[in-house]
Amino acid sequence: MTKEGKLIIFSAPSGAGKTTIVQYLLTKIPELEFSISATTREARGDEQNNKDYYFISKEEFLHRIATKQFVEFEEVYTGTFYGTLRTEIERIWKKGKTVIFDIDVEGGLHLKRKYGEHALAIFVQPPSLEVLKERLTGRGTDNEAKLRERFAKAEKELNYAPQFDIILKNHDLQTACVEAEELVANFLNPLTP
Ligand code: 5GP
Repeated sequence: MTKEGKLIIFSAPSGAGKTTIVQYLLTKIPELEFSISATTREARGDEQNNKDYYFISKEEFLHRIATKQFVEFEEVYTGTFYGTLRTEIERIWKKGKTVIFDIDVEGGLHLKRKYGEHALAIFVQPPSLEVLKERLTGRGTDNEAKLRERFAKAEKELNYAPQFDIILKNHDLQTACVEAEELVANFLNPLTP
């Protein structure tokens, strides 16, 4: 059995800035390592297999569900699955590192319930739903149907914020990054009274 380590969970509706914050923390805190999720969606832009995601077929994903290889998984968008493999967390803990997640809201809460005090769950809150919609539209990576689905999901996800350990407001990305760094540093090395 691998010794249980710590986990940092960043969840938010997509477009709230969590990916940028997670990437920033990875450059700043060497003890963090990114949990690479498995997904059935196609790679976008310059995304790389085994780095950004494990891109796998739906068939393989379903097989991995059936053989209980996921700690959590979600059909985040209709027909598109995302999940955290048990082996991924163990791979990172084995190195003595802390796992950091960029994960949807339900998946984040699932992990928090499972790992309790070992996990810090942070909800990244966008300034408003309108700003979120502008950011998602401006990204230009989705067609209209996909965008509508993302908006609907975002609206629902904003209601989950109070269930997280911390709500991190992202009105200004640079400020949010610095605040996130402080929160994570305090969780990893708490000041003793
Ligand atoms: P995207 O397609 O934009 O990369 O990701 C869509 C959503 O799925 C994002 O909110 C992302 O954080 C989430 N996601 C990525 N990996 C996982 C995972 O392993 N499990 C769950 N539940 N959600 C994930």
